[in-house]
Amino acid sequence: MTLDSFYTKLGFSINAESHLTLNGVDLTTLIAEDQPVYVMNELLIRQHLQAYKRAFQEYYPKPTTTFYASKAFLNLGMAHVIKQENIGIDVCSEGELFIAQKAGITSQNILLHGNNKSKAELQAAVDAKIYTIVIDSVSEFDLLETIPSTQKISVMLRVNPTVHVDTHPSMATGVYNSKFGLPISDKRTLDLILRLSKSTAVSFAGLHFHIGSQVLDFKAYTDAIDSMIRYLAWLQEHGISIDTLDMGGGLGVDDQEATLDTIERFAKHVSAQFIEKCLHYKVPLPKLAIEPGRSVVSQAGCTLYKIGHIKESDGTTFLAVHGGMSDNMRVALYQAKYNACVAGKMDQPHTKRYKVVGNCCESGDVVIDDILLPYCQSGDILVVFNTGAYSHSMANQFNKHPMPGVVFVGDHAYHWVTKPQTLEDLIRHDVF
Ligand code: PLP
Repeated sequence: MTLDSFYTKLGFSINAESHLTLNGVDLTTLIAEDQPVYVMNELLIRQHLQAYKRAFQEYYPKPTTTFYASKAFLNLGMAHVIKQENIGIDVCSEGELFIAQKAGITSQNILLHGNNKSKAELQAAVDAKIYTIVIDSVSEFDLLETIPSTQKISVMLRVNPTVHVDTHPSMATGVYNSKFGLPISDKRTLDLILRLSKSTAVSFAGLHFHIGSQVLDFKAYTDAIDSMIRYLAWLQEHGISIDTLDMGGGLGVDDQEATLDTIERFAKHVSAQFIEKCLHYKVPLPKLAIEPGRSVVSQAGCTLYKIGHIKESDGTTFLAVHGGMSDNMRVALYQAKYNACVAGKMDQPHTKRYKVVGNCCESGDVVIDDILLPYCQSGDILVVFNTGAYSHSMANQFNKHPMPGVVFVGDHAYHWVTKPQTLEDLIRHDVF
């Protein structure tokens, strides 16, 4: 059997024993226990980060700064990659900030987000003298002003262009009635911008808009850019010029197109839109910041599951794996769809229909609703593709399943960057 070129582009191939390999590493060798393993292709993560830098350099005439959105996937290993690639990082909690700092990412490469930053989070960001704090509300700025600082803090303001975003409603943010940012149609947003630009405590670095996540239709970006540049023209009439626009992240990951190609199309499209709209509305082209998350890590990740019991019930063949909604919430949360194969049976035809379910006590604990696979047996290893984003970062200990470990795969080599949790980890913080 040969692999589809889509998967070979992601680093997968089949070895002489008909096992699936990633960058030459046999995936059947990475799982021994009855616990899933998150596998991340480190080479592909780096290629995605470099692709963002290169593409915006090519298509956008002003400087573009990239901040990896760490909510998509973060551990010390990932933060080290970000540091080595000399990319900025977007954090949205004290925890994410802590990990970025532990990995040695310099403060000037860190940007803080969040729609409800606590005083402690703001204090930590001020103390660390990070690059920018993105303010989300008037009261958050009031709170920031109470925090003493030895130097002027750089802030941006998150605004909402209020467009239609074709994604799952839980992932659409730049839409009407969103909890994130302030609508540009609201007069109070202008009042805050005036306040920020006149403040002696902060330096106002620009505006931020993030329209949502898993956005595959570029029309939402076209509309948001139009809204934002029209808004900049209007602000210009009020004597305010905006130096930098941070357009957030959101680029969707397709199950047909390698993200390396999607990034190229995306950079070309949005750059052209910014240039066209700035000409149209007679606004100087702003500097850009971008915050890609999912597109950096999603296709770089796969999850290995040991197959447990298989049973027929009411005409469905249930294939249960050791894992599920505790290591990947996305199917239950967003009805996410995944593809999979059996790592040790790459020479066998996909002829048997299965419903792949997890080992958590909920009927919603489904990994893949309906898939054709080779005939499976208990002990086989199921590889679920495209799980690098928002699975490890949303993992939980439901049913007291210890959290799985993470392996980074380089060129014909791998290393564990997060060890699997043990049963002892489940009670480490209990006091009795
Ligand atoms: N920036 C902000 C402010 C976000 O809230 C998010 C995620 O929702 C991102 C960037 C990253 O989005 P994505 O992972 O879809 O690229």
